[in-house]
Amino acid sequence: MGVDVGFDMVPRLSNGIVDRHNWDRFINFIKECYKDDDQVEIKPNYFLFKVGEHPMLPFEGHKFLRFSSKITWNIGSYIDRVTSIARAHFGSRVRVWDESAYQSGHYDWHEVHESLRSYEQTDEAEIHDSTDPRKELGLPLFEIKDIPGKGKGLIALSNIPQGTRILCEKPILTAGPMPPDALDRVLAGKLKALSKVEQRQFLSLHNNHPGKYPFRGIFKTNALPCGPGSSVGGVYPMSCFINHSCLPNSHNNWNAAAEHETTHAIRPIKIGEEVTISYDRGGPSTVRQDFLKKAFGFHCNCSGCTLPPSELQASDTRRLLIQDLDNSIGDLDRMATSPEKSLEDCRLLLQALKDEFNGYAGASIARFYYDAFQISIAHGDQARASVFAERAYEARVICEGEDSPSTQRAHSLALRPPDHFSFGLYSMKWKTTREDIPKALTTAQFEKWLFREQS
Ligand SMILES: [Zn+2]
Repeated sequence: MGVDVGFDMVPRLSNGIVDRHNWDRFINFIKECYKDDDQVEIKPNYFLFKVGEHPMLPFEGHKFLRFSSKITWNIGSYIDRVTSIARAHFGSRVRVWDESAYQSGHYDWHEVHESLRSYEQTDEAEIHDSTDPRKELGLPLFEIKDIPGKGKGLIALSNIPQGTRILCEKPILTAGPMPPDALDRVLAGKLKALSKVEQRQFLSLHNNHPGKYPFRGIFKTNALPCGPGSSVGGVYPMSCFINHSCLPNSHNNWNAAAEHETTHAIRPIKIGEEVTISYDRGGPSTVRQDFLKKAFGFHCNCSGCTLPPSELQASDTRRLLIQDLDNSIGDLDRMATSPEKSLEDCRLLLQALKDEFNGYAGASIARFYYDAFQISIAHGDQARASVFAERAYEARVICEGEDSPSTQRAHSLALRPPDHFSFGLYSMKWKTTREDIPKALTTAQFEKWLFREQS
């Protein structure tokens, strides 16, 4: 018997970088405080306090719910000290309770015991890294198959989790924009310099533009731009077989630092499903169809383009809304004079993206969270900027991986928002620090705070 005393973390910490960073600082502080105390043992994944009922603190904050013990003669000072250190790091998110004062914890014991059991498990290496058993065994995640009406395509050989790196390739060759005859000549020259295997790989690719310039035809059909908006294109051994969908399940990205192209699953992909990326530039279905026909020479029959008429109309309306909101967010005068309106547009745009892409809008999510970051930091709001950068980071990890320069940039901006060149560029009227990120709001309240919604 005896009474329990301790504290709960409410709401629990996320695995996002701001919460992770704060927890790491807290854990380091605890380590420093108790480094000479034999009663506090450092286990592989947690601290064990060998007093009272042996409470623990995990090294991964998202696992943590409660630090507590029944009161015994030696536990009080430990509970008090850890509580006050936690309070200093997490503010009112630390809910102190004491059964002798008829207070009980926020979580029920079933949840708490489950969280305690999770401490024993080894740290998760990367939250979004592949847990696909085929990948761990070095087996291919897909096979290249003939797809009726589309040439070849990639078909998943297993269920592929979201965030999995499906492909990572260096280009066989690259080329910039030039007149058709010149491009054909340049490609012929580059092809000669390649190995026989690479030549065969190039010549086996599909050509939607047969005729006078065969090499250009293959290049034009298959080249992927080296970065968004880049006029330089690259041809790859396998990435080029990935077909288009207006509702893609994967995202391709040119990593300029590593000079390779990656393809990541942006949502879970089922075994037997075709791996798809988006070649289009957005807009309603008719605009996409025109663009794809002109640029790549095919008519799109993807699940997004073949929706029943009423759903297609709703999708077209959303796509137009997305374009309109994107344009208004890009209006710098408005960002300077009415930033609350620009931020509201970001909120609406992110919602429209979620609706249109069933919650998996890929890199667009990262882009618009980054816009929201810029709006906030340009008016001195480090608290919201940090949260927006963190969300951009999380989306980039899924779409591009930790080694992508854009992912790394979002990560460092989440920790140090003022490093951005536009810090306070328009005003400091929203001045906050990262310490001002509220710690005791519900998810709905937090979203309202984040987007400055008036209630
Ligand atoms: Zn389509």
